[in-house]
Amino acid sequence: DMTCLKGFIMVRKFNFNPGPATLPYSVLEKAHSEFLDFQNSGMSLMEMSHRSKNFDAILENTKNNLRTILSVPEDYEIIFMGGGASTQFAMIPMNFLGADQTADYVNTGVWSTRAIKEGKLFGKVNIAASSEETKFDRIPTEFNFSENATYVHITTNNTIYGTQYKTFPNVGNVPLLADASSDFMSTKIDISKFSIMYAGAQKNAGPAGVTVIIIKKSMLDRVVDRPIPTMLKYSTHVSKNSLYNTPPVYPIYMVGLVAEWILEQGGIEKIQAMNEAKAKLVYDVMDEMGDYYHGTVQKDSRSLMNIPFRLSSEDLEKKFLAESAEKNLHGLKGHRDVGGIRASIYNAMPIEGVEALATFMKEFAAANPKA
Ligand SMILES: *Cc1c(COP(=O)(O)O)cnc(C)c1O
Repeated sequence: DMTCLKGFIMVRKFNFNPGPATLPYSVLEKAHSEFLDFQNSGMSLMEMSHRSKNFDAILENTKNNLRTILSVPEDYEIIFMGGGASTQFAMIPMNFLGADQTADYVNTGVWSTRAIKEGKLFGKVNIAASSEETKFDRIPTEFNFSENATYVHITTNNTIYGTQYKTFPNVGNVPLLADASSDFMSTKIDISKFSIMYAGAQKNAGPAGVTVIIIKKSMLDRVVDRPIPTMLKYSTHVSKNSLYNTPPVYPIYMVGLVAEWILEQGGIEKIQAMNEAKAKLVYDVMDEMGDYYHGTVQKDSRSLMNIPFRLSSEDLEKKFLAESAEKNLHGLKGHRDVGGIRASIYNAMPIEGVEALATFMKEFAAANPKA
């Protein structure tokens, strides 16, 4: 239980939703405390110009903190846009895939499939690898990259299926572009391996409404010759520092607070260690209990962020969901494509929440022997 600022008691749920997802409580408190009067400005940030000094500082701080957290090299730009990760699915081929050119895509699930669909609108798509035949239960290990691909696109973490790359494919000199929506800032990665990394904020970086895009500046030299709407050009947002039009001011502020929180935790190494410890709690229960909790993912592809599993019957799964909800464990229903249970344990899920889940899983199994 938590005592809120107004003095009433709120029972804060452990929120395992896949996205929008739980945020650090201290971030919510900070936003709350600044909501009505932003830093003695006499107004809310909600009401403030995106060209104000206050927002200028937020934008710069947020970019700098993201740069620090991920060690983003100098020759990369960080931009913020609306439209979600899904708009990036279209913007990437619109900007970088000519009608006669080929882009390589790795298909690891629903989000990759959606990216592929948009790619095909603009040029040729080669599926360099896919795990569709095994119901997306793994990250492929063999890739058939094409001779002259203009880029390779991957999904670093597959939110629905619960798979995650542990190492990234070697693509040589071809730009590697990644949808990192559901594992952004969760582990230490080498950004210089990627030419574009983008993430809808609402999983690991903030609230819905903003997409963070980290783009190598030299990508702008590779833009294909076709009419592209101004708002859908990367160059527009890079050259105007995300201020060509009104950006999602409040979500960017929230991403900034989350970035500060990550630094307060000790940075990306500490976050990664926490994420590994949290995921281990759940995977250990699954592994120790035989097949009571049937993981749907090959062990070497297991995600630190999203953990799907099935029980022996749908009735038992319903009971699991009902009883977990009574214990304040919220949002554990699996995606309809996989069914069963999915625990999304992003950066902001406290270890206490995962401990409570692991304890519940053990107690539930003991009380409900497999038929
Ligand atoms: C949630 C999600 C998306 C979709 O993001 P929107 O911001 O809703 O467009 C895309 N890719 C991945 C990996 C996701 O988890």
